[in-house]
Amino acid sequence: MCSILVIAFAPTLSEVPHLRLVVAVLGLSLAAQIGVMVALRSTASRQFVLIIHDLVLAVGVSLLIPEIWAACVCAAAITIVWAALIVTPGRLTVLGIGTAAGLAGAGSVGHSPHWVPVLGIAFITAGGFAQSALTHGASQNSIQSRLSEAMAVSGFALYDCDLGSGRVRAVTGPIDEMTGWSSLEWMSMDHRTLIHPDDLGEYWIQASSATGDEVHDRTARFRRRDGSWIWLRDVSRSFVGKDGAVGLSGFVIDVTPLSEALAAAEYRGTHDQLTGLPNRVTLVEQLERRLAAGQHFGLLMLDLNRFKEVNDTLGHAIGDRLLVEFAARLRCLIGATESVTRLGGDEFAVVVDSADEAHLRRRADEIAAASRRPIVIGDVSLAASVSIGGVLSADDPIDASTLMRWADVAMYDAKRRGRHYTQFRTDLESTSVIDLFLSAAIPAALAAGEIIAHFQPKVAFDSKEIIGYEALARWEHPEHGLLGAAKFTHLIQVSDYMAAFTDRMIDQALDAIVAFAERGTETTIAVNISARSLMDIEFPHRVATICEAHRVSPTRLIFELTEHELMEATSVSLEIIDRLHELGVAFSIDDFGTGYSSFSRLPDLPIDEIKIDRSFLWAAERDERNSVIIASIIGLAHRLGHRVVAEGVESIGQLALLRDLGCDVGQGYLFSRPVPLGRLLSTAPSRR
Ligand code: C2E
Ligand code: CA
Ligand code: CA
Repeated sequence: MCSILVIAFAPTLSEVPHLRLVVAVLGLSLAAQIGVMVALRSTASRQFVLIIHDLVLAVGVSLLIPEIWAACVCAAAITIVWAALIVTPGRLTVLGIGTAAGLAGAGSVGHSPHWVPVLGIAFITAGGFAQSALTHGASQNSIQSRLSEAMAVSGFALYDCDLGSGRVRAVTGPIDEMTGWSSLEWMSMDHRTLIHPDDLGEYWIQASSATGDEVHDRTARFRRRDGSWIWLRDVSRSFVGKDGAVGLSGFVIDVTPLSEALAAAEYRGTHDQLTGLPNRVTLVEQLERRLAAGQHFGLLMLDLNRFKEVNDTLGHAIGDRLLVEFAARLRCLIGATESVTRLGGDEFAVVVDSADEAHLRRRADEIAAASRRPIVIGDVSLAASVSIGGVLSADDPIDASTLMRWADVAMYDAKRRGRHYTQFRTDLESTSVIDLFLSAAIPAALAAGEIIAHFQPKVAFDSKEIIGYEALARWEHPEHGLLGAAKFTHLIQVSDYMAAFTDRMIDQALDAIVAFAERGTETTIAVNISARSLMDIEFPHRVATICEAHRVSPTRLIFELTEHELMEATSVSLEIIDRLHELGVAFSIDDFGTGYSSFSRLPDLPIDEIKIDRSFLWAAERDERNSVIIASIIGLAHRLGHRVVAEGVESIGQLALLRDLGCDVGQGYLFSRPVPLGRLLSTAPSRR
């Protein structure tokens, strides 16, 4: 400052006294100032040392060259003003005016020319501005240092990168703490190699299409040095560099806890907690995507048979284990292009890449076969048989929910028919609507006694006498008239009224036994039992109680169980069969020959009677070779000591054939249709 003033105060350089000395002092002063600037980092300490330097210089030069004492006073005054301003910047104006006045006075009494005061004021003003800028700069600097400290604790890391090469050109901040990679390492590698493959596409596509001056906000997983993943949120601005290359500058911050919480929430929303399979939300999305893309595929809807009983009798823990095991089995079965979903409860769905019915059916067969293999949970062995409904996208549904409804309708049809698979047909939908109405009416129908038993006689071939009856359910529906069992028993099977219905059928069978007994006829009555009843541990006790109430021995009852259901009997069902056996109830295998049992298993089954399925009898009429099957069933059953009943006997020819083959008992329209108890009693001869 002093040096500038010395030169400024002299009209020409030649007027400056001791020019060499002044220039030497100025040179030294300049070198000292540069040294101070380099050595000291803080603005305040630089200022302080420079002011001291200026003061020393001013006093020194005044003593050395008295001719320019006014200039030195001026320089000292300005220095003092600056010093004051640094301490109290708010007093700029007061100090400026005060010092200017002092300087003007000093100039006017000195030897300096008369323009010195004016120049002094001008310098003071310029100094004021300079100081103001300096003060502002100082406060700016301290804000900046505070901000960089704040940035260090905030966890932000700033970076600059070249989009073409993927190289990070500069990075600052706690990137090391976040990722384990040092900033140097970040700068030496292509950072794309650290991005999780699942995130890379979306992360990079956005940035790689940048043309400059766009803001990008992306989040992706980066691989830490220790191999773990960190979620980094990356907010950046793209720019075009001087060389025309596009780059990105921005910051990254660790958002792992938040991203993981979001990812976990998303996973929970799209996956089933128990089995870990994708859930309904995911399936609907997938179906909609595939339909929109015009893909050809098939949807299989699976429902575990009698899962409710497993839950009710063995408890939810076993039920859950069964679902988990079943889900694992499905996972193993499905191919790379297929997907499996748990829709809730015991319902699963499989999407199959298939445009043709035969292929879809084959997949359904394979799934059904795999599910039949027993699942062992602790000491319980369970057979998770399934009912499957299949539908093709080629059936042209309007949307995903229609497709799912169609698969559902087909699945219920399979369940109703006791088959493992039904392919969707449009006519199934109307049946399912009727089913809905009937299902809703079941409890009221039971309470009103609309569901009753009709009885069909069983006739012994040798004595030609009726040896018993089969109770068959009928619904005397107020609007639809008399409904056969096939119309509604499948609905009761899946309702909460199965136990009430079965008890009612047993009750009516016992009523009939009592009524016959009162007429002097001892008879046995067969009741059809669903496998669901055999999962109900209370069932044997209830049977005993109902028998006691009627004063009828349980030995008068036969329970008919289809071969299919017997094959799926769990260890619990077999235990319940044993307990009923102990009570005296006899067991009969219904529809024999249609299930999966092999003859070799027959000796192990806890049964007393075999009912040959009517399809064999009808087939034998068309082709005599089928009678060989009937003959072998009869032969084997006899050797095991079981009675053989042929059902569906409609003609004299069938009767003759069965007699020839040595069948014991016949049942069918030839003898009588199933009839209500009243009719039976009015036609049956009384022995009293
Ligand atoms: P199922 O046990 O095989 O019963 C025999 C079915 O064949 C009965 O049909 C009967 O009416 C019919 N039938 C009897 N003789 C002939 C004949 O000569 N020709 C023809 N074409 N059919 C004959 P329904 O009553 O409709 O019963 C169908 C199925 O419903 C039964 O098959 C049985 O599995 C089930 N069901 C019937 N009542 C009950 C019940 O109370 N409880 C349970 N769980 N299921 C029942
Ligand atoms: Ca039956
Ligand atoms: Ca049958």
